[in-house]
This record gives sequence, C-alpha cells and structure tokens, in this order.
Amino acid sequence: MKRREVIKNLSILPVSGAVLGTSSVLGAGILSSYSAPKRDIFKELGIRTFINAAGTYTALSGCLMHEEVVETIRYSAKKYATIDEVQDKVGAKIAELCHAESAMVTAGCWSALVLGTAGVLTGTDQKKVAELPHLENMKSEVLVQKEHNHGYVHALTNTGIKVVEIETLEEFEKAVNEQTAMMWFLNYAGPNGMIKDKEWVELGKKHNIPTMIDMAADSTPVTNLWKFNEMGFDLVCVSGGKGLTGPQSAGILMGKKDLIAAARLNAPPRGGNIGRGMKVNKEEILGMYVALEKFINRDHEKQWKIWEDRIAVMENAVKTINGVTTTVTVPPVANITPTLTISWDIEKVKISCNDFRANLRKGDPSIEMMGGKDNLVITSWMMRPGEEKIVAAKLAEELKKASS
Ligand SMILES: *Cc1c(COP(=O)(O)O)cnc(C)c1O
Repeated sequence: MKRREVIKNLSILPVSGAVLGTSSVLGAGILSSYSAPKRDIFKELGIRTFINAAGTYTALSGCLMHEEVVETIRYSAKKYATIDEVQDKVGAKIAELCHAESAMVTAGCWSALVLGTAGVLTGTDQKKVAELPHLENMKSEVLVQKEHNHGYVHALTNTGIKVVEIETLEEFEKAVNEQTAMMWFLNYAGPNGMIKDKEWVELGKKHNIPTMIDMAADSTPVTNLWKFNEMGFDLVCVSGGKGLTGPQSAGILMGKKDLIAAARLNAPPRGGNIGRGMKVNKEEILGMYVALEKFINRDHEKQWKIWEDRIAVMENAVKTINGVTTTVTVPPVANITPTLTISWDIEKVKISCNDFRANLRKGDPSIEMMGGKDNLVITSWMMRPGEEKIVAAKLAEELKKASS
C-alpha cells in the first residue's frame, strides 16, 4: 500500500489504539484481537501470560504477530504445497521487497547464519553438502572483528569453520589466506569495530571473499532491510520474530542468487545436510512474507509516535515521584525503539530493582520488563494497545508503596 493510501485509510479509523482487529494499517505491529477463545490453552495448562514491556526476547516468546499473519498461517495450514515452490515464490517476493537478488525463509536469523555460511562453503556441490561439518575439501576460516566476536558466531562454527579474529586493517590483510571462506559482520557491533560496514564490503570485493551481515534485531529503521543489500553484502540475515513481528521461529536469508541456491541445498526439504533440523513449513514461510510486507508498508512515522506516546504515558506516571529518575533514549543500533529507563534513590524508594521486577511479574496481570540491579528498562513496541496504561499505573503504585 502506498503511503498516501495508508494515510487515507487511517483517516477513517478512530485514532486511539483501541481499534481492535483493524490495527494492521495503524501498524500496532501486533495481534490485537481480544476475543475469548473457545479453548483457553494457557489457562488450561496453568501457563502464565504477561504484558511484554521488555521487548523482543526469545525467552519471552519474542513478539506477537499481526492478525493478517495469523490469518495467513491459519489459511495455509489447510492446504498442501511443496516447500520448494513456496520458498521459490516467497523468496522472489522478499528479494524484490528488500532489493536483493534472491532470498529464502529460514528458521530464525540463527538458522540464516548457519545456512548462509554452509552455502558459502559448499556452493552447489552436493558432495560437499553431505560432508559438512567436515571441511577437508573446503575453505575453513571466517574473518570476524574482535568487537563482533560475540556469542552469535557460534552459528557459524556449526558448519565446522574456525573463527579468525582480527582487529585492525593490517591484521585483516595478514589474516586473509586461501582458507578464508567468508567475512562476517555483526551490525549491532558496527560502531565498536575498527572496520565499518562499507569498508568491510569493499575489502570483501577486493579479495573476492563473500561478506555476510547479521542484522537480526535491526529492522528499524525500515531502510535497513535494503541498505545492506544495496551496500553490497553478499548475504544478509534478519530475524522474523523481532522487530518484523513475524513468526518467532522464522527469519530471512537474502543476497546473491548462487549463494541462496547453495544455502537451500543445505536446508529442508533436503536431508543429509547440517540444516535438516532447521525446518520451516509453509505456514511460517508464508507468514514471514506477509509479516515483512506489512512491516514495510506500515506508516513508520505514525508507528514511532505510538511507541513514543506509550513511553510518555509510563514516564509521566512515575517521574514526579520523589527520588525517581527517568530517561528516554533510543539505541544507536539494534532494537531501535524509544526506551524508558527508570532508577531511584534507594533511601527514598526502599525496594531493590530485582524485587521490584519480581513483584510486577507476580502481579495480575503479570508484567515483564528488563533492567539491571540499578534500573528498570522498558520498551513499548511489543505491547498491545492500551497496555501502557496498565503498566503506568502499576509502576506508580509499586514505587509509591515503597516510598511510604
Ligand atoms: C536474535 C539474534 C540472533 C538470532 O536470531 P533468531 O531469529 O532468534 O534465530 C542472531 N544474531 C543477533 C545479533 C540477534 O540479536
């Protein structure tokens, strides 16, 4: 939908976030149907559900999907299709949306990292696909900057490769050799590393080494979805179940046509490969596509304002409480969304942050948030419309209780 049409449609809707079930245009980003289910499986099994004031965390089940994504999943669950055809057709659409040559839906960004690396190593050689993670006949090293060498590189080592850590340009040039298979870049670590994204891509081209970027949680701003393809990264990996609010167990691998074809040889529906356990079925592949499409066509300015307004409601509820300090920031990279940090003088508000969070978790409704021993950290982008008021009231109530 074009931006103008989005705005036109918006004008016929009430402005508040309370328009249940029609929020796909408003881009509330989440399923907002509150209709009572025939069978409440959470209640039946005694599973705690909660308001997510934390953000997109795997342990907290990530995000909620758009009604239209859920509809897609429900509809596609009732018909058969071959996985290859679904991947072909969806891949072509995703590639077009994100200005890439080709794309596939993976079982999360982690799986995109594994399958993309596997594709680089094996190419379309079926024999090599069967040999992974044994690399006797393949290249075996991936170059990673020291500041980028976090836990996520474990995805790459699943293929059998060795991570070679470098820090300076000089070290990079020394480290390149005939065993260098790929150069990996972790977008959120970009500002901390010595070599920046553009230079990383140029170095890859200079040495004819494929480059991969992990931008799992970096789908805001929306232009990031094509920025790195246009910059020249050979492979780009994104999470489906974070900012994109798609299926939690889906992700996207996009990039060069030959590399995506090679990655698919390492993935289901084919077996006898290291990716066989990273299955995505048609429901998730199609759901991922619809989520991406909805995300891109969202009114991003309006969406940002909704997130900011929710943060303001929560901040305003607590900032005048004696001893309480609040700040609103936006992370420079990754999870770019307004973020509220609350801290307090323990002499005036006599409760630890850990106990505070535990109390909110135990409450009804239960509320989850992030933070350390000295602060609470709250985002509003994974909340359902109106939940900010509940969180605001609860925050104020608990802080005041601890103040008296
Ligand atoms: C979340 C994350 C991943 C893993 O993504 P999934 O979609 O959960 O598989 C990989 N890399 C980074 C930087 C992440 O933040």
